[in-house]
Amino acid sequence: MKIGILALQGGFEAHAGMLARLNQTPFLVKKQKDMEGIHGLILPGGESSTNIKLMDESLQKEIAAFYSKGYPFLATCAGLILLAKNITNSEQFRFGFLDIEVKRNAYGNQRESFSEDIFIEPLGKPDFHCVFIRAPKIEKTSEKVAVLAQIKDNIIFVKENNILAASFHPELTQDTRIHQMFLNMCEEKKMYTL
Ligand code: GLN
Repeated sequence: MKIGILALQGGFEAHAGMLARLNQTPFLVKKQKDMEGIHGLILPGGESSTNIKLMDESLQKEIAAFYSKGYPFLATCAGLILLAKNITNSEQFRFGFLDIEVKRNAYGNQRESFSEDIFIEPLGKPDFHCVFIRAPKIEKTSEKVAVLAQIKDNIIFVKENNILAASFHPELTQDTRIHQMFLNMCEEKKMYTL
């Protein structure tokens, strides 16, 4: 299987480490041609506005075509902002594939970063160590979106069709379960696309 990681800016290396731990060779995506033959795409955390500035139009179009063909995405933090339909406090470009409304930096600044062990139902026990770094808040989801985890009243992990999106950073832990869940989605898509 060939898994791509958007590698324009931000935490793409930690995702690459996770894939390596799961015996996958990560493919870094910077340009349109890097998307060739991939079965799934990870959009890392970082700065969503910077990611957009660094993404040329051909790559943007390729990602949209990839989504239209039903390939899976794993989006974390800034990556989730890139996919959201609405961003309440920014006019920046977004792909809009994920029917949620988000607010950038809604938990506070870098110093207000925090982590907490959360029960994530599809993963079961033990709880998942969720790391939040200037995280977005998911303020609304449509009925198309499955809520997979919450912290108090805040939604932090969702799935809509082939998109898995977290407002935290699973790649910054040793816990491979979320990446494994994404790889299973990619495996399934690959099987039905022969
Ligand atoms: N605050 C960043 C943004 O708005 C996201 C932070 C992160 O990815 N850790 O894009």
